[in-house]
Amino acid sequence: MTQIKPHAYTELPQEFYNLQNWQGFENPSVVIENAQLKKDLGIKNIQKQELLEIFNGSLTIETLKPLSMVYAGHQFGQYVEQLGDGRGLLLGQISSQKDLIDIHLKGAGKTPYSRFGDGRAVLRSVIREYLCGEAMHALSIPSSRALMIIGSDEIVIREKSETAAMLVRTAKTHIRFGNFEYFHYNNKPEHVKALADFCINQYPAYFSKTKNAYEDFFRVVVKQTACLIAKWQAYGFSHGVMNTDNMSILGETFDYGPYGFMEDYLPPYVCNHSDHQGRYAFKNQPYIGLWNCSALGHALSSLIPEESQDEILQTYEVIFQNTSAELFRKKLGLGQEKSEDAALIQGLLDIMESEKLDYTNTFRNLTQALNAQKTPELDSEIAQSWIVSFQERHAKESLPISEKLTLMNQINPKFILRNYMAQEAIDAAESSDYSKLETLITVITSPFEELEKYQNFANKSPAWAKDLEISCSS
Ligand code: AMP
Ligand code: MG
Repeated sequence: MTQIKPHAYTELPQEFYNLQNWQGFENPSVVIENAQLKKDLGIKNIQKQELLEIFNGSLTIETLKPLSMVYAGHQFGQYVEQLGDGRGLLLGQISSQKDLIDIHLKGAGKTPYSRFGDGRAVLRSVIREYLCGEAMHALSIPSSRALMIIGSDEIVIREKSETAAMLVRTAKTHIRFGNFEYFHYNNKPEHVKALADFCINQYPAYFSKTKNAYEDFFRVVVKQTACLIAKWQAYGFSHGVMNTDNMSILGETFDYGPYGFMEDYLPPYVCNHSDHQGRYAFKNQPYIGLWNCSALGHALSSLIPEESQDEILQTYEVIFQNTSAELFRKKLGLGQEKSEDAALIQGLLDIMESEKLDYTNTFRNLTQALNAQKTPELDSEIAQSWIVSFQERHAKESLPISEKLTLMNQINPKFILRNYMAQEAIDAAESSDYSKLETLITVITSPFEELEKYQNFANKSPAWAKDLEISCSS
């Protein structure tokens, strides 16, 4: 497949990566292939079987230079000096309509950075990553995606024994905050500079060679991060492991582990069963995004003076607040900006919190409150009085109601990826039945459609799923 080119990262000095091959499976099979993404990448003519052979390594492309990257990172606030692709490989780049896209394999076997790990990923976790990438993309939240899941009969041991699988992942970049941290803490400012220069050259849609190129580079990373996290909050997404090694410099959601879409609105929601302190609780994500940016700033201190860093970091909160306010105004169907909006939005969130309302469904059903119908969620006395202020506020808007309803239904999804749905698809897939996975993908890739036939996918979790525990082990 000549469309995949060696990654430009291979032009960086040798200390940045390890060139190596990977370990395919003995009996590989396609669990799922992403037809839409294949099309977007201009490779729809390549047959499924051929893709499988390429990504499993059975069909060699001589020109490729696969590599595992070295990086470090702050994990739960502590600096860990050497992480790196312990089970991942960057295969190369492919040019899509407007960008160069990375092709990466997750679960491709051991690398020099595997430490005590086996270099593999389990079917359960790659399905979760595949599903979330698609769900996020459909919600217009920047994210890595996946082209294919390769299944196997290889057994790996986690908390129990499971089968190994590989994810063919695509992303605009695989450069993390942690790549910079690795060279900074190893006292290699020349490599920090080389990496910043590389990013500025490689991603012209984001960075430019200005007079203050490094300041501007950092400014863009901070902005991308603030915008991304504002979107997570607006859709109730919790990442679960916001370590600096899981933060993309282009602001794409990345490295899915024990993530969760919040169901009942609960700001202290922690989706990661291993996060005992709640560091990455839903409500902490905006602050952690800033914390991570300041960790990146520290790693860039040989390039950017402290005063400039402080000034740039201060933009984070403003960008976050503005993006967030705009998203929530749209979720309420408000076109104009008014000073009373913040209180109106907060009023709704307070009701959702005290009455434990479903975050997604409450927003989706707001159209009914606007239409002077009863909404299933907002029926308490206090909710009724909120609806009155909501309608009064809407009276000041000029758009006709039908247009407001359309706009609201384009931003408030009917369907999100609830953990129990992923779990049901995984349970079936572990018995080689992929039909539930396919149906779920149909639903989450059209989150704003009514899809009457799939009405049950808009339901809250059943009782058995309330205690589903998702940990880091994947
Ligand atoms: P993650 O939690 O997936 O972001 O991974 C954190 C670090 O552990 C990264 O450096 C991974 O490459 C590494 N890692 C996770 N699982 C494995 C595994 N099964 N084998 C080798 N390395 C792993
Ligand atoms: Mg990671």
